[in-house]
Amino acid sequence: MYQTLQKYFGYTSFYPLQEDIVREVLKQKDVFVLMPTGGGKSLCYQLPALLLEGVTIVISPLIALMKDQVDGLLANGIPAAFINSSLSYSEIEARKRNLTKGEVKILYIAPERLVLPEFLQFIQSLRISLFAIDESHCISEWGHDFRPEYRQLNILKEIFPIVPVIALTATATQAVQQDIISQLKLSGGKVFRASFNRKNLYYHIKPKDNPYHQILTYLENRKSDSGIIYCQSRKTVENIARSLQAQGYRALPYHAGLTPEVRTENQERFIRDDVEIIVATIAFGMGIDKPDVRYVIHYDLPKSIEGYYQETGRAGRDGIKSDCILFFSYADKFKIEHFIHQKEDEDEKQAALRQLRELIHYCEGNVCRRRLLLTYFGETYHEIHCGNCDVCLEPKERFDGTIAAQKILSCIYRTGERFGINYIIDVLQGSRNQKIVQNRHDSVKTHGSGKEYSKSQWQTFIRELIQLGYIKLSGDKYPVLKLQEKSRPVLLQNEKVYLTKPEEPLQIQKDRKEECYDHTLFEQLRSLRKTIADKELIPPYIIFHDISLKEMSAHYPQSLHDFRKISGVGEQKLQRYGEVFLKEIIDYCRRCNIKPGRIVHNNPELPVQQPKTLTTQTTLELYKQHCTIQEIAQRRGLAISTIVSHLERLILEGEDISIDRFVNPEKQHRIEQALAESGLKFLNPVKEKLGDDYSYEEIKLVRAKVIYEI
Ligand code: ADP
Ligand code: ZN
Repeated sequence: MYQTLQKYFGYTSFYPLQEDIVREVLKQKDVFVLMPTGGGKSLCYQLPALLLEGVTIVISPLIALMKDQVDGLLANGIPAAFINSSLSYSEIEARKRNLTKGEVKILYIAPERLVLPEFLQFIQSLRISLFAIDESHCISEWGHDFRPEYRQLNILKEIFPIVPVIALTATATQAVQQDIISQLKLSGGKVFRASFNRKNLYYHIKPKDNPYHQILTYLENRKSDSGIIYCQSRKTVENIARSLQAQGYRALPYHAGLTPEVRTENQERFIRDDVEIIVATIAFGMGIDKPDVRYVIHYDLPKSIEGYYQETGRAGRDGIKSDCILFFSYADKFKIEHFIHQKEDEDEKQAALRQLRELIHYCEGNVCRRRLLLTYFGETYHEIHCGNCDVCLEPKERFDGTIAAQKILSCIYRTGERFGINYIIDVLQGSRNQKIVQNRHDSVKTHGSGKEYSKSQWQTFIRELIQLGYIKLSGDKYPVLKLQEKSRPVLLQNEKVYLTKPEEPLQIQKDRKEECYDHTLFEQLRSLRKTIADKELIPPYIIFHDISLKEMSAHYPQSLHDFRKISGVGEQKLQRYGEVFLKEIIDYCRRCNIKPGRIVHNNPELPVQQPKTLTTQTTLELYKQHCTIQEIAQRRGLAISTIVSHLERLILEGEDISIDRFVNPEKQHRIEQALAESGLKFLNPVKEKLGDDYSYEEIKLVRAKVIYEI
């Protein structure tokens, strides 16, 4: 079993439950498998198919997907085929002959064809090792995807009483599960229910506040990631797809208003990595097997937790960290309610309202998102905090925003209360665009004083100040910001203003940044993969999944022997793609002078800039009160080194911090000289040069200043 797993799939271990399930199937027992998307259901029948004598028949409702599934198996050297309506009569006959000769181990087929009397008769002449029924919830009228043709599968056990059946699904309530088992007559079969916890998915809910802008910010650093943006209406889909295109993103729309040809083409181009982004209504996604969807964004509020969970589930099937972002607004809630109230059927109406209420509860709540989701699906989750959702990672806090508010108010005042939000932010951030220069606003005192926050953070502050009544947007043609009476004491008497701690748009990718692999090599391997895929007319992921490319980019294999150890590299792929990928890696290592065997962190030169946290903010406050480092450390009960690292970050972020207070100018000068000689990367050589009169802390502070000034 392990040998076959390694040989054909290139995996060295099983996912949870896979091994037990495979063992049970090998004993020729019926089984029912409930596993979330990405749980690894396919392997549960593909591996037994290889180990058992005869052909395994996979029943799948998704004709469109069969070709890719079969291509994936063929790429692993597994003799597989499909029979469906996309084939001509003679092609079907040819495949039947191959089946008769025993040359096919796995056959994909749609249920309606399987149950044709003539076809049933044909397969009775074959040696069938196993029936695998994918998406088996389609058999149940109580599920959300009922397909009448699935019902007829209940004859399988009558005709083939001794052939084992494995039924698989990712969506089943207890009732649906019972229905599947009784319809298929899986008597006495074991039931395997995997946890629905998708550990690699990061659940994030953001207030819907200029969502398009937020999406742009989010996309900035992930131009090559695949993602889905779900919207409620066709019109929004079209608009966003068009805007993203105009912005230089490769994005395509998908909704029921497009012709089937356009829909298929757009979906295909997404799967083949010709475009990164699909903007879609919920019509999109059924049967999307793409393993490397890195984010799913809900631009509008979904209607139920089930729908939301299913849609977000399309992210990160390959187990790599992926983001699920939902933009929440009460306006959307009212919109959906409005539609629900137009329903005639009272039961339907009540059910829809209940589902919406549950979803709102999920969005509003301040408990761990994962915990709430799993509880909703009837699973006990023992952790209080999952550590991978916004509630766990970014508790909402307020902070003393007086300084930020003062900067905004003063900037509005000094520019004469004649400008809108973005202009004010541009001035704060020190832009010298034409308009600002013309108006001579590059010489007002607040010009450039607001570099510590991003544009969207300033927007959030300004909106909050509007809500709180400090300022007002007025004028209809061109809304300009005006000061209100309430702002006077803030400007003149230093009255405190508390604001919501800014959400860092980039925080979502915090973890991802820390993944240790060579990003440049990864991109190169990706483009190699894309070239080969286009030549072979298959989706890129069939050649290698991202996770395999990432492993290559972390370990730099130098021989076929090493290459074989990469997860996802089985014998067939080693033979077929080993050489060409290896060459790319070896060339790359030579060019960049990389000694293999070492895991390289991305861009080790500079400390990674992280969003300013509340704790850094507190250090800043104390700094401003003229505390020494020792005093700050003492008052906060933190180590001196921690405070120094806060100061380093503040300096790098452009806070006005004078290190003269901590390191005298003469020492600074000496340290700068030593840094110039030894480089900025490592502190030890600098310290050695300077001797015991200089501390690491002093060196760090000077280094931060030097880096900032570069
Ligand atoms: P499902 O059908 O349950 O959504 P898949 O069968 O498509 O899941 O598998 C999800 C992903 O996990 C695929 O990318 C697959 O290659 C990978 N995978 C499955 N089993 C293993 C394993 N034992 N080791 C490593 N990767 C696996
Ligand atoms: Zn959580």
